[in-house]
Amino acid sequence: MPDAYSATIEKYWCQRYILFSRFDDGVNMDEEGWFSVTPEVIAHYQASRCASGTVIDCFTGVGGNAIQFAQRCNHVIAIDIDPSKIGFARHNAAIYRVDDLIDFIVGDFFVLAPKLKADTVFLSPPWGGPDYAKVETYDMKTMLRPHDGYTLFNVAKEIASRVVMFLPRNVNFNQLAELSLSACPPWSLEVEKVHLNGKLKAVTAYFSRPPVGGC
Ligand code: ADP
Repeated sequence: MPDAYSATIEKYWCQRYILFSRFDDGVNMDEEGWFSVTPEVIAHYQASRCASGTVIDCFTGVGGNAIQFAQRCNHVIAIDIDPSKIGFARHNAAIYRVDDLIDFIVGDFFVLAPKLKADTVFLSPPWGGPDYAKVETYDMKTMLRPHDGYTLFNVAKEIASRVVMFLPRNVNFNQLAELSLSACPPWSLEVEKVHLNGKLKAVTAYFSRPPVGGC
């Protein structure tokens, strides 16, 4: 491991090819990226499930998901509030030769949201740091940042007919059901437990607007 990395990265360094299979081609990220990037095999699978039309990756980080979406979808919009994250995402996308298939935007998703339209909104929002693993049940009302899960879902469902959320493994499933039922008419919900190397890693929730009907 290069000396420039802090000791806390050591655990993640061993997983570098799980995070990015092309790591040795020059993948680069900051410390937060190491903790929060979606492992490539998971991002690849999520992209296969979202494969069509326009996808917006609303909290792009260093680009793990956006790179995989670009290999499957017609158009990808990658948003992050932190310009340096977008810099890393663009650099990493170039390594996978998909940088010209992604529109990178530096901005606050919640400010941009009213102007966005897409087929799928993908949300891998800040989980609130590593403390999520210290509680038995992750509460989307109080632990998600910068806004709760309800605000996030309500904003996202105005943009697309499919909303995909990547959430902590201990997320409260009743709250996910509450979200889908809060829409009018209720949206369908599919929850997937994501295992990596035999360990439950996270949960992906797929919400879809029903094709017909109203309230
Ligand atoms: P985690 O808790 O999963 O480590 P982070 O704090 O790393 O989450 O946040 C995930 C990404 O979301 C970061 O790249 C961060 O810059 C970005 N982000 C945070 N708030 C916003 C926002 N309002 N709009 C767009 N991107 C955001």
